[in-house]
Amino acid sequence: MELHIRNVSKRYANGVQALQDVTLTIPAGMYGLLGPNGAGKSTLMRTLATLQEPDAGQIRLGDLDVLGQPDAVRQTLGYLPQEFGVYPKARAEDLLDYFAVLKGLTNRRTRQPVVEGLLRQTNLWDVRRQRLGGFSGGMRQRFGVAVALLGNPRLLIVDEPTAGLDPAERVRFLNLLSELGENSVVILSTHLVEDVAELCPRMAIINQGRILLEAEPLRAIEKLNGKVWRSVVDKPALPALEQAHAIISTKLLGGRTVVRVFSETAPGAGFEAVPPDLEDVYFTTMAGHYGQTPTQEGRVEL
Ligand code: ADP
Repeated sequence: MELHIRNVSKRYANGVQALQDVTLTIPAGMYGLLGPNGAGKSTLMRTLATLQEPDAGQIRLGDLDVLGQPDAVRQTLGYLPQEFGVYPKARAEDLLDYFAVLKGLTNRRTRQPVVEGLLRQTNLWDVRRQRLGGFSGGMRQRFGVAVALLGNPRLLIVDEPTAGLDPAERVRFLNLLSELGENSVVILSTHLVEDVAELCPRMAIINQGRILLEAEPLRAIEKLNGKVWRSVVDKPALPALEQAHAIISTKLLGGRTVVRVFSETAPGAGFEAVPPDLEDVYFTTMAGHYGQTPTQEGRVEL
């Protein structure tokens, strides 16, 4: 089962070109869609979730034509939007049961084990009688996953799920996602490099509506081996460095500035070679000096 996105474009009425000729092949398993705010991630996720239509392009999920058969897609789709609104007065178990009925599980006897199974899988069994209004952000997101998983979706879309979660909740949530079926396509849309680094065997980087890179994170990192250099400097030295080098990132550490630079060869005194990471891949891709030969459409495939 694969999701094929071909030449999908979308321009909003206000003139914003949110997606520009997006082509991706997404296999079963976790797939990371990484990009900054405004990149077009939600537009693509809503399009895949059949909530809005593109101006052009085709999308196929296995043998389903997503744009032509939206009702059939909805039968097998789980969608966890950025903001998962809940009814604060409802109890978790009751609301999940209610959503299960809406999903077509009208027989109480077959529904009950499904609801129980999902509450256990999302680690909400012990709090199933509590009202959602008292849930933490992480608990609400896990409840959203339980709802999204109703009906065993073949396509699960999770849009910016860890924004607003504290570190412990985030880890718990990512662990939950990592356990999800390898048989379905799970797309994790995020601006957080760490989320993708920890979970996704394949990923794409999107910016300004265009796919800039489609890759396996580990291979993409490998390609930067020997090309990432680090120096610790005082802030006044930064402008000169920025002139002279392809800066990947700058971070404050203990009052000094840690500069990471992309360079095929040693950039000179004061720099040491460091092992690359996915953040280096992300920033070098965004800055356009990944060092690969882009395809005709201007993107890099690894
Ligand atoms: P992301 O999810 O990566 O932050 P979005 O898909 O939300 O990106 O937005 C992509 C671009 O489209 C942004 O410039 C955003 O302002 C614009 N946009 C999103 N939704 C709409 C809309 N309904 N009408 C007009 N512009 C929109």
